[in-house]
Amino acid sequence: MRITLPLDVYGLILEHCRGGLPLEACGLVAGRQSDGLKEILAAFPVRNADASRSHFSIDPRDQLGAVLAMRAQGLSPLGNFHSHPETPARPSGEDLRLFVDRRASYLIVSLAGPRPAIKSFQVSLADGLPVATEEELDIV
Ligand SMILES: [Zn+2]
Repeated sequence: MRITLPLDVYGLILEHCRGGLPLEACGLVAGRQSDGLKEILAAFPVRNADASRSHFSIDPRDQLGAVLAMRAQGLSPLGNFHSHPETPARPSGEDLRLFVDRRASYLIVSLAGPRPAIKSFQVSLADGLPVATEEELDIV
């Protein structure tokens, strides 16, 4: 699936991820979905309840607030984002265990290199095991 991310929303995601260093940061993304295209229109930073450098879990109270804000703005939930402060923008083994929604996009921001990198993944099951497939992500 193709997914678009406006530059200003990417900027907000990066700001939140950099602000969370050295810990992983996370949030939700929302927008519109049509055949073959997801358009991210907004990002909702939330707290990483794990406060960890290598894993995350979305704070449930922040998640509720984000979902209510999405609804108020008429946006559909599209997935979430989290940062990898020290590793590439690829799902970790733990990420794959957590990524259970096959409709969701899982965006990963790597802050490990000289410049940030962002990739988006969808997850499916192959022989009962979760497999991540990279989406075609365009910053627009
Ligand atoms: Zn991860």
